[in-house]
This record gives sequence, structure tokens and C-alpha cells, in this order.
Amino acid sequence: MGTDPPARPLTVTAAVLDGESVGLRCEDGLIAAIGPEVAPLPGDETIDAGGAPLAPALVNGHTHAAMTLFRGFGGDLPLMRWLREVVWPVEAKLEAEDVYWGTRLACLEMIRTGTARFWDMYWQPQATARAVADAGLRATIGGPLFDAEGRTEEMRASALHDLEALAACGPAIDLALAPHSIYMVSEGLLRWTAEQATERGVAIQIHLSETEHEVGDCLAAHGVRPAAYLDRLGLLGERTVLAHGVWLDEAELALVAERGSTLVTNPVANLKLAVGGVFPYPAARAAGAAVGLGTDGAGSNDSLDLFADLKTFALIQRHAAGDPTVLPATEAWSIATGGRAPLLGGGQGSLSPGAPADFLLLRGESPELGLGELASDLVYSASGSVVDTTVVGGRMLMRGGVVEDAAEIVARAAERARRLGIG
Ligand SMILES: [Zn+2]
Repeated sequence: MGTDPPARPLTVTAAVLDGESVGLRCEDGLIAAIGPEVAPLPGDETIDAGGAPLAPALVNGHTHAAMTLFRGFGGDLPLMRWLREVVWPVEAKLEAEDVYWGTRLACLEMIRTGTARFWDMYWQPQATARAVADAGLRATIGGPLFDAEGRTEEMRASALHDLEALAACGPAIDLALAPHSIYMVSEGLLRWTAEQATERGVAIQIHLSETEHEVGDCLAAHGVRPAAYLDRLGLLGERTVLAHGVWLDEAELALVAERGSTLVTNPVANLKLAVGGVFPYPAARAAGAAVGLGTDGAGSNDSLDLFADLKTFALIQRHAAGDPTVLPATEAWSIATGGRAPLLGGGQGSLSPGAPADFLLLRGESPELGLGELASDLVYSASGSVVDTTVVGGRMLMRGGVVEDAAEIVARAAERARRLGIG
């Protein structure tokens, strides 16, 4: 497979968009034309959509993809016991091939459930990048930075090494620096991350304000709340993605919006880890902050089917606001496709000429898709199983629900998980 543009242009005919039958032609990985008159040119690969609904692909703004290997392993433990007794001992044994096959498994699930692009933070990021490229997806990738044990110099060197290696991984991979969080990374290393990211023009991914505990500790240690602390260190910028943000207050949201940083909410992981709060979406929207949606790792969700997060996001926002009108389905769908967070990439949820050719054909005959508003069905009644065809960069990764090599990927990932002592 791989991520070079496909050799032949791809044209989809008889797809349905906004109630109208349209064709869509892809060339060099981009949408070349879309509309009722668009037809294949000689030599094109073609798909007759047969009246299937056409939709933009989803963007998963926060993952630890290879953690698919940890599924069902210690998931009922409290967070710190799960990390200390389950995750960290296994991670100490991780080899590049474990990360590669764990990520291939994640990509398989994402292809099946309509995600074209994701933002990842995990060990051995070159192995992640190789898996993403082989799967045909796109990702922004950073190896996690931790120096709670005083390994600052080692972390700086490995971050620079990772950036160099990732830069050689092809056009489907974008680079990030990924300091884990303000509680696992020293002030010095956070400052250094901000400087390096600016100098090199790469993105920053960090967990922020996932728990109330983190806010209390930050106030005690630094005298300010987490977003203000990050800003003081130069980490809030237009290329920064903040995962979680459950406990951000209005002043912090205003600051995040002013700096142009992107918030990614992970509602299912927040519920599973019982963080005790709900991402303040209405306040984030009122502040004008960019917002995307993510699953977080399969160790704390455990699904990578972003449709599940989409439904949970919409429901929990309505519930928390005590107002069923707080988040219209079209807006929730737009967030899941990157439409409210330009940094997250993709076509920002739009299917128009010049945008990346990342799109889905849905199963028109799905019982979950009714005759009412499609966005409402996609948010409230669909799961990823309504996706029939996934195209990324003009390349067909799934057709009729079938992904090439799926059986081998599942088997190889299971082998790697067994090697690590899981299961
Ligand atoms: Zn995470």
C-alpha cells in the first residue's frame, strides 16, 4: 500500500450528497471535481456508489494507537494502579514491531469506522509512522516526552532523533512534539519543547486538565491554573493541541482561544476513567476556541470507533447543559470531521475541489440511516458499521466493508500482545 498518490485517478459516480446525485473525481490525492456532472475520464478507476450517501472522513484528534494491544487488560483498575501495575511494566518491554502491529490494528479499526487522519502520541513513533503509511492513513505523530525521573537530557535527544526520523516517513506523516502533561514533564523541558516547536514549525500535543487534581497541583506548584502555566512557558500557540481540557475555566478558555490553540475532547475516555467532569464545550465555543474530537488510547476507551465518541459527546453536552438544543447534530458532526479545528487537518469536513480526497460512502441500506436528517442519524443512531467505503488520499482503503490484509493484521497484533504477556 503506502501513501504516494495512487497511480490512477479514482472517480465515484451516483453518490448522494445533500439529497443530490453527484460524482466525485480524485487526482493526485486531492478532490479534482465534485458535482452532478462529474463523470469518469478514460483510464480512471471507478466506483458506482449506487445511491450511497457521501460523507467527509472523520478526524481523531487524540490517540495512543498502539495501545490496541492493551485492550481488556486491567481496565477495571483505578488510573494510577492501571498505569503502574499494567501499562508501564508492559511498555518497558515494547519493541518496534509491537508498536507497528498495534498501530496497524488501530488503523484497521479506523479505516472500518471512517477515520482518515489521527493525532498520535506513543513510544517508538517511527514504528507508528511506518504502520500509518502502510495502512494508507494520515497522522500527526509525536513520541511522548516524560522527565519526571530526571531524564531531561535523554528526552531532548530522543525527541530530536524522533523528529528527524519522522521527517523521512513520507507525506502522510506530520510531525509533533508530545510532552505528556504538565505533571509528567519539567518546566525546563516544557519550555524547551515550545522553543523547538517554534523553531522547527512542528505541532505540539499535550494532555491538559484531564483531572481536577491536576488543576489543584498546578495552582499549588505554580500559582496559576494549567492553561496559564502553559502560556507562561510559551506552549500555547496556533500549532498546539490540548487533549481533554475537562477542568478549564472561562478565563483559560478565553486564553486558549486567543492563542489559537486547539482543544480535543475525549468524552468516552473521560467517562471510563471517571474524571468527574464534562468538557465545557458551550463555554469553549463561546470563547471562539477550535474544538476537535478524539478517542484517546484504546487502553482507556477502549474503542477507536469515533462514532461512539461522537454520540457520547453530543449526549453528555446536552445532559450537562440541561438543554437538548445546546449542540445541534450538524455541529457535532462537523467537530468529528475536523470542521471546527483547522489545525487537525483534512479538508476541515468539506468535500470541495482542492481538498484532500478523504471521504466515505455509507451503506445506504443501513437500518440506522433513516429518511430524516443524515447528520442526526450519524450522531445518534449510527456506529462505524454504517461505513461501506473509505477513501484516503484518493486511495480506496475499504470497499464493501472489506479491508485487504485484515485477518493478517488481527493475527499479527494478537501475536505481539501475547509476546508482551497480555492475555
Ligand atoms: Zn491520551
